[in-house]
Amino acid sequence: MPIKFYSTMTRKKEVFRPIKEGQVGMYNCGPTVYDYAHIGNFRSYVFADLLRRYFEWKGFKVKQVMNLTDVDDKIIKKSAKEGIPSSKLTERYEKAFFEDIKSLNITPATLYPRATEHIKEMVSIVQALERKGYAYKGEDGIYYKISKFKGYGKLSGTDLKGLKAGARVRQDEYDKTAASDFALWKFWNREDGNVFWETELGKGRPGWHIECSAMSMKYLGETFDIHTGGVDLIFPHHENEIAQSEAATGKRFVRYWIHNEHLLVDGQKMAKSAGNFFTLRDLLKKGYSPKAIRFLLLSAHYRTKLNFTMDAIKSAEATVKGVENFVAEMQADKGGTAEGQPKAVKRESNPQIQKVIEKARRDFEKALDDDLNTPLALKAIFDMMKEVNRMAPVSEKDAKLVLDAVFDADKVLALELSETGKVWHSPEEAEKEVRELILKRDSLRSEKKWKEADSIRESLKKKGIIVEDTAQGPRWKRL
Ligand code: AMP
Ligand code: ZN
Repeated sequence: MPIKFYSTMTRKKEVFRPIKEGQVGMYNCGPTVYDYAHIGNFRSYVFADLLRRYFEWKGFKVKQVMNLTDVDDKIIKKSAKEGIPSSKLTERYEKAFFEDIKSLNITPATLYPRATEHIKEMVSIVQALERKGYAYKGEDGIYYKISKFKGYGKLSGTDLKGLKAGARVRQDEYDKTAASDFALWKFWNREDGNVFWETELGKGRPGWHIECSAMSMKYLGETFDIHTGGVDLIFPHHENEIAQSEAATGKRFVRYWIHNEHLLVDGQKMAKSAGNFFTLRDLLKKGYSPKAIRFLLLSAHYRTKLNFTMDAIKSAEATVKGVENFVAEMQADKGGTAEGQPKAVKRESNPQIQKVIEKARRDFEKALDDDLNTPLALKAIFDMMKEVNRMAPVSEKDAKLVLDAVFDADKVLALELSETGKVWHSPEEAEKEVRELILKRDSLRSEKKWKEADSIRESLKKKGIIVEDTAQGPRWKRL
């Protein structure tokens, strides 16, 4: 089945047809590394990861490029305030970003180009725009003349009627309601300190929009398949990227523009500037798990707004636990081979199980094919769990089939469900009664009193505790 996406450009769902059969080139607007990313930002990055994983699940080879914006107004301001070089600041937050994406189990992109390492490419696009008459020199920088680009506004639906002659903006982020000429290259001024490059364009630094045009086209070609970002980037950032790239190359820049909606807090966009944000670290410190955060972000369709509340994250935590318990039960039905793991009980296979699994797989794929409908895809998995639970306990063979199906879906969802059975604890982490039983069993074993030791294992199992012996001593986990 082909995949359909809602295209921001055409405002309708379109069948995805890659430029090269079986391959996808995708650019995701990445972080400005001047602070910790908040979980609103991570909604965008988890979405990009979902796209990547789903394409791979369907057998595509994906080249994914995510930029790191390491030069811009905010970075210059903050590093001046802290009295450190901007590279020190960006290094610190780049490191934090990579730690965070690892926590959220986001597959690293193929490439993470840094803006500061692509100045040459940006300069040559600006030169091409100058040659073609799309760029002009102002007193403080080189600007893009938007009235010259025929298609300006085609992505966002912004019209140029209200355009004031000569109006232009230097700052990277500006009024989202009015179009105006924007800076391609900013001549150095005192506030920039030692953030500048000596280039053919003069001493200065690039504007934000040109960074993404340069890095995307360098690694993905002048026309590539997919470009993503949050909806706030449609205008002016992506509109300006199109204007720069298409005017410079004379070719269509991007085939599919896909934008995710915002994560909200009390009905407002979660944003640094609004002060209503949580970083991933804030939530982990409060004891929430990265899996629950990932699950919460996936639980809403990417084109709907998602309101973040503590109740929502608590409920996501409970749902993930429920799925893990289901996996643990299937693992128990399947039986283990390691010492300490329960043996499978002989049971008849149930032909219904196979049918339930096949339906779930069909529904899962159908939901994701249809513009990545994650809530429906999750429902397919939950429906399967419900049906299987009604037939549980299941045979060893059926348990294996169910687990295979869950782990297969998890290649896309990335909740690390196959790790479920591997959450072992030391005896010290158990409540008193359980701890004493584990330790008693261990000492019985060292006295070679196998029978007594086994009967303790059985009684622990009745409490839902599995014990296993390792070279470091006994360990346990909850079933
Ligand atoms: P920034 O670092 O502000 O350039 O944002 C990086 C990415 O996060 C962009 O794709 C933004 O659209 C996205 N983003 C920012 N805030 C939110 C939010 N509250 N919900 C979803 N995405 C967001
Ligand atoms: Zn960008």
